[in-house]
Amino acid sequence: MMATTHVFAGLALAAPVAAAVPTLSSPLAVGAIVGGLAPDLDLVLEHRRSLHFPVAGLPVAALAVGAAVAVPSSPVVAVAAAVVAAWLHAASDVLGDGPEMNPWTDVGDRAVYDHVRGRWLRARRWVRYDGAPEDGALALALAVPALLVFDGWVGSVVAGGLAVSLGYVLVRRRLVAWLPDWLE
Ligand SMILES: [Zn+2]
Repeated sequence: MMATTHVFAGLALAAPVAAAVPTLSSPLAVGAIVGGLAPDLDLVLEHRRSLHFPVAGLPVAALAVGAAVAVPSSPVVAVAAAVVAAWLHAASDVLGDGPEMNPWTDVGDRAVYDHVRGRWLRARRWVRYDGAPEDGALALALAVPALLVFDGWVGSVVAGGLAVSLGYVLVRRRLVAWLPDWLE
């Protein structure tokens, strides 16, 4: 899935909380955006493993939510939103493809690493590759709650991210042909 799809998923989860407690909408949005993006920083390490915690991340996310309910200050809420969005990102990577750049010819079954059981989780391929048409549709649907609830800079970031994502979906298959071989 695209990085933006993950960010919109985190924001969609944060949106009802932001609607209920509007004073916390900024820390919720910052946390969801940072947490939605952060796991993929492991592209430079071991992708889908170093910073992806699909199973171990769940109890940590639950603890963070508990802390935010107990101490609903902006920093605690932002961290909780980030931890939850990062866990959701890692867990939902199971629904996509492997981390290959060219998933048409280079089919792998490793979706994301489960540090608890010490093995790779199998790619379900509901979203066949990042930037697939279904990825674009998912990004669009997940962006709706964020667009309805968050205004100001968050609304602009979501609208901009959505435009970039849909553009990416349009050129995704051609992109592979433009890339140097060693990147695939
Ligand atoms: Zn990821």
